[in-house]
Amino acid sequence: MKPNQRVSSIAFSATLALDARAKELAAEGRDIVNLTAGEPDFDAPTSVRDAAKASVDSGRVRYTPASGRPSLRDAVAAHLTETRNAPFTRDQITVCHSCKHAISGALSTLIEPGDEILVPLPAWVSYFELIKYAGGVPVCVEPAADCAPDLAALAAAVTPKTRGIMINSPSNPSGVVYSEADVRAIVKLAEEHDLWILSDEIYRRLVFNGAPAFSPASVSESARARTIIVDGASKAYAMTGYRIGFLAGPPEIVSSVARLHSQMTGSPCAVSQDAYESALREEPAEVETMVAEFAKRADHVVKGLRALGLEVPAPRGAFYVFPSVAPYLDERGSAGFCEDLLNEKDLALVPGVAFGLDGHVRLSYATSLDKIDIALGRLGSFLESRVAARG
Ligand code: PMP
Repeated sequence: MKPNQRVSSIAFSATLALDARAKELAAEGRDIVNLTAGEPDFDAPTSVRDAAKASVDSGRVRYTPASGRPSLRDAVAAHLTETRNAPFTRDQITVCHSCKHAISGALSTLIEPGDEILVPLPAWVSYFELIKYAGGVPVCVEPAADCAPDLAALAAAVTPKTRGIMINSPSNPSGVVYSEADVRAIVKLAEEHDLWILSDEIYRRLVFNGAPAFSPASVSESARARTIIVDGASKAYAMTGYRIGFLAGPPEIVSSVARLHSQMTGSPCAVSQDAYESALREEPAEVETMVAEFAKRADHVVKGLRALGLEVPAPRGAFYVFPSVAPYLDERGSAGFCEDLLNEKDLALVPGVAFGLDGHVRLSYATSLDKIDIALGRLGSFLESRVAARG
């Protein structure tokens, strides 16, 4: 018995693997500082927890429709109408087990074998594998300065086989927020070549210093007709373990994803649906506090990294920074850099190669300022030792 070719070719999530390795070493007694986390270091808000408990106690824990409870789909539609400044209705929403589930469902529904999908780099690890699993070909496109999308390079990468483009703003791993002008230019490119746009807006609520991230769905009705938004509860409401999210887009597509999910996974967790609905109907006060704390830490960590002489694209959202460590790499690239850093300095970071840019590393600041300072100290001493080793 052996796994088939399609699954064998999928890499295990690099970020989950690294997190597991760092936790293993910590369990052996090593004083590991782990900056690989992809989740907020906050509890889910009180109202969310109360709603989950009330859901269990009420017995509302049976299967729901595969596309989610109608009341939650209405709440998502109302939330999108308000935050994306465009009308959304229930028939444009399918609730999923998570944002990851929404992405895999969308890609499995949209991609025909051999379709090329543009992926502006750096990009979240799962995109590459999920596109391939769905039968498509990820076409990675290098960024412009500061990890902004390179529009000319994107246009040059379009071929007769190109069908879609995946964007993620605020970005994991860089924290960069695409400008409104860039999003409009991407929509124009999509319209010129009849491409769909999958807009991963999971970090949308976690934005500092200025306007929220602009969605392609906000551009026009015709832009909405080719856009699928994926989003969820994990980051905005610190609900990673609840596993709940959604996709929003043309009814024919989202209902097809629901049909697929009705066979593959069935209805999303009933308890998590209730908890998510409560957060969407009235934003918990804790969210604003969390965003303010992330903004403070972003500022601190960027200053710290620049003081070490590293170039860092300015993050405006999410909870990651993505400095360049290119001058310090040997032939093993960012993977070797992170391996040595963990072994020699007990500091866990994610190598940029996992996101398609080998010259970088990703630090998550979903941890305390004290830990961040320890991490910066260890990184500084590691960089010095690399310079000294080279003479
Ligand atoms: N998209 C991006 C860019 C992410 O970073 C993550 C989580 N790390 C997800 C989607 C998935 O979120 P969820 O927990 O809802 O599956």
